[in-house]
Amino acid sequence: MDATTTPAPSAPAATGNERFFAGPFEGSGRAAQVIAQVTAFLDGELADLAREHGIDHEHGADRALLQQVWKRSRALGFYGMTLPEKMGGLGLTVLDHVLVKEAIYATGSPFAPHVFGELSGPPRVGALARFATPLQMQRFILPVAQAEKAICFALTEAEAGSDAGNVQTHAVRDGDDYVIDGRKRFISGSPFADFAVLVASTATDPAQREVSAFFVDLHAPGVRVESGYKTMAGQSSTGDIVFDHHRVPATQLIGEPGRGLALALGRITVNRLLHCPAMIGLATVALRDARDHALRRRQFGRAIGQFQAIQHMLAKMATELAAARALMLHTARQLDAGIDGRAESSMAKLCCSETAFRVADRAVQIHGGEGIVQGRRVEFLFRMLRMYRVLTGTSEIQKNTIARELLGDAR
Ligand SMILES: Cc1cc2nc3c(=O)[nH]c(=O)nc-3n(C[C@H](O)[C@H](O)[C@H](O)COP(=O)(O)OP(=O)(O)OC[C@H]3O[C@@H](n4cnc5c(N)ncnc54)[C@H](O)[C@@H]3O)c2cc1C
Repeated sequence: MDATTTPAPSAPAATGNERFFAGPFEGSGRAAQVIAQVTAFLDGELADLAREHGIDHEHGADRALLQQVWKRSRALGFYGMTLPEKMGGLGLTVLDHVLVKEAIYATGSPFAPHVFGELSGPPRVGALARFATPLQMQRFILPVAQAEKAICFALTEAEAGSDAGNVQTHAVRDGDDYVIDGRKRFISGSPFADFAVLVASTATDPAQREVSAFFVDLHAPGVRVESGYKTMAGQSSTGDIVFDHHRVPATQLIGEPGRGLALALGRITVNRLLHCPAMIGLATVALRDARDHALRRRQFGRAIGQFQAIQHMLAKMATELAAARALMLHTARQLDAGIDGRAESSMAKLCCSETAFRVADRAVQIHGGEGIVQGRRVEFLFRMLRMYRVLTGTSEIQKNTIARELLGDAR
């Protein structure tokens, strides 16, 4: 989908100031080079591919087309860029990573989550490489790194959402195997994944919480993916995974038993921050669309951008977005400097998700009726950015984390 799927309502646009969409670049030369190349890939080859196959944010590519994108991205050197350097990654700092991801999302491309396999590729396994056995490397991690296979991350269940430790899916030891029963909910990428990193309870005493992580093959007997529901952003890349006496060899246990949550959430501070550039990138698209519409749309004999009410909305959008972006970049620099950053990362996620949604809401308002017609880009961005206030830890959970760190033992 692009902003022009519905005819432009009024006269041609005057030109606004581009400075608000490309501030001074603070990353490394390497990151600048990657951004130039990856955005050219998204705006050129992948935009053509999307047009050719009728792909937009709400009509996703099938597995074969996605794999074509992953492989092409790998051939160009993007797909594995987040992997550890010894596996071919670029060794980007957190700041560089954030800037590259922001630029990818600011293209507005429906392929944005796929160029480095964010949903089902290398970022899902990179951090696990140091815990994996040689067998796990060969069978699960390398095929994902090489874009041959796709993997999802399965933690959430009906009764284990914000309370992630309360997983009921059980892995019971039986000789050299574990037998797994249970159901995972809302698992991104599962409809087209081959493998999952599964987080399951291995507690023998129901009063205890002992959670372990496993590599599982989603095509093996006793496991199936049930998809078919759509999120409010109109996407169907999320599904449930059902385990019915699924038997996995104990060699597929990742790390030590009982360390599953630590493994799964081990990089939560960085991962939380790394969702922010997607929100900021998409909100930047909304701001640009709103600015362009305000310059183009005429009512009462003048461009609506000449009304102070519209100017003030745009001013607030630009100011709040700049502040959220500054917090994101500041947090990235702090993480690069080695601070713990748990609260800071939650602050960035809270601020970016709430701000990005407000920006999208105002962008819809500025578009008037056009903004609430399905098929306009701002209408999609509004629904998409609403979701980030829930995903990867709700705003309330971020506040809990910040308060816990702030108040310490006194809480
Ligand atoms: C599109 C999508 C993709 C997802 N992808 C994945 C994935 O790939 N892998 C995966 O494992 N999970 C995934 N999830 C799950 C996601 O992480 C959870 O939905 C999210 O963490 C919230 O959990 P919940 O939905 O159970 O909400 P709940 O935990 O039931 O929360 C409901 C409400 O209660 C509030 N609340 C809960 N506890 C507290 C508290 N202690 N204090 C204050 N308020 C509280 C929440 O903030 C929220 O407002 C995905 C979800 C969606 C919708």
